[in-house]
Amino acid sequence: MPLANFIGGEFVAPKSGAYLDDIAPSTEEVIAQIPDSDERDVDDAVQAAKLAFPAWSRTPAAERSKLLLRLAGQIEQNFDELAELESQDSGKPLSLARILDIPRAVANFRFFATAILHDASEAHVTDNTALNYTLRQPLGVVGLISPWNLPLYLLSWKIAPAIASGNACVAKPSEMTPLTANRLAELSIAAGIPPGVINIVHGLGGKAGRALTVHDDVAAISFTGGTVTGAAVAANAAPRFKKLSLELGGKNPTVVFADADLDDAIKNTTRAAFWNQGEICLCGSRIFVERSIYDAFVDGFVARTKELRIGEDIGALISAAHLEKVTGYIELAKKEGGTIAAGGHRLDRKGYFVEPTVITGLGCDCRVLQEEIFGPVVTITPFDGEDEAIAFANSTRYGLAASLWTRNLQRAHRVAAAIDSGTVWINCWLLRDLRVPFGGMKESGVGREGGFESLRFFTEAKNVCVKL
Ligand code: NAP
Repeated sequence: MPLANFIGGEFVAPKSGAYLDDIAPSTEEVIAQIPDSDERDVDDAVQAAKLAFPAWSRTPAAERSKLLLRLAGQIEQNFDELAELESQDSGKPLSLARILDIPRAVANFRFFATAILHDASEAHVTDNTALNYTLRQPLGVVGLISPWNLPLYLLSWKIAPAIASGNACVAKPSEMTPLTANRLAELSIAAGIPPGVINIVHGLGGKAGRALTVHDDVAAISFTGGTVTGAAVAANAAPRFKKLSLELGGKNPTVVFADADLDDAIKNTTRAAFWNQGEICLCGSRIFVERSIYDAFVDGFVARTKELRIGEDIGALISAAHLEKVTGYIELAKKEGGTIAAGGHRLDRKGYFVEPTVITGLGCDCRVLQEEIFGPVVTITPFDGEDEAIAFANSTRYGLAASLWTRNLQRAHRVAAAIDSGTVWINCWLLRDLRVPFGGMKESGVGREGGFESLRFFTEAKNVCVKL
């Protein structure tokens, strides 16, 4: 199935005439051909977006809201098909696509469709001599670059606020997971989104993605992906003074204190470790457990890990290259002196499946505890006391998300405040409210998305001062 770029409301072939294989991770079969787009395709998409922008930005918020709600409805009507496509394209279990990815795409469009109806602007009166008020105006054409781990979930997390606030966008999904983005383009026509408001250019990050980051007519880049890529995106976009939002990698700590509800902690930290086969930026991959309950926790965690069913609870990794990377870290863990307490192997079957793997016996300085593996591989390390727990949690260059498990309310708040992390969950994980600020500290990102933070990112604040 050859896919096409979606530019100005039309499906068009890439200028180069070249295509890339889209491989299904669980079967290793080619399931589609995707355009290998270059800067000419990106430029066409930007021009289409520029054409659409004036009318779209002047469209009343209530009308934009109605169209976004229709798009949410279209996704819902095609729920089963989209879940199948997402599972096939990314390797994740179908059940997960059904409970996580597709419902969230619907929620993203609904959330921002209604958020724009409740936005308000500030006014500042200066000693009765002047009245200042703030206009928040759309930027124009914005570039949206998203990864493969939560394809439609993250693409819609960017498209929805971008167009809700009156921008026209050019999106570049990961070349490894183009199928639901392609379907979203079709559904946007059915929903009545005007041509050119949403444009989708498929292709490689280093070519099509880069072209978007250096294009002079793109006012902002919202990027979600790895930290190294984020640095390249920033290096290209910053000298052109584009607004930049960077949602990057993580190496998230899970801290379990001795007073936690052990059964609940084991159940939920296993999910935090292995959901989406560990390919969620928020997964808790470094688990720290207070020494007095360490053995009991490890026993329970390993037992639960061994119950996970490959194919149903744990999907295939995204690609052969990523499989190499993940299994390479398991080998590195052994060289660094770690013990494999569960898993540790690739499965002897078609598809890029790796057993959920638990490693013990490694300290915080090991590469396995410092570098993002982004697969079903976690470490468990004992700690003594609150100060050490905080020091261990903060011992990487990342700061995306953390989870704490304790029944002590004071300690929960104290430790949450001390951890370098954009999000801290207490006695839960991945409990999301779309209104809250979401993003990373340190090398996990710059800026925040979510709620009015997203709407502010996609608008420019203009102060108007009137002499009284
Ligand atoms: P990635 O390799 O950084 O790619 C992300 C996106 O950027 C893809 O569409 C990619 O295209 C594109 N890209 C690559 N090089 C580019 C360049 N020079 N200029 C512009 N775009 C470029 O990340 P990934 O492997 O897809 O995703 C996994 C990473 O994303 C992990 O580190 C994970 O933690 C992070 N992540 C973060 C969040 C968050 O909210 N903080 C959420 C999800 C994932 P290609 O696919 O063609 O390379």
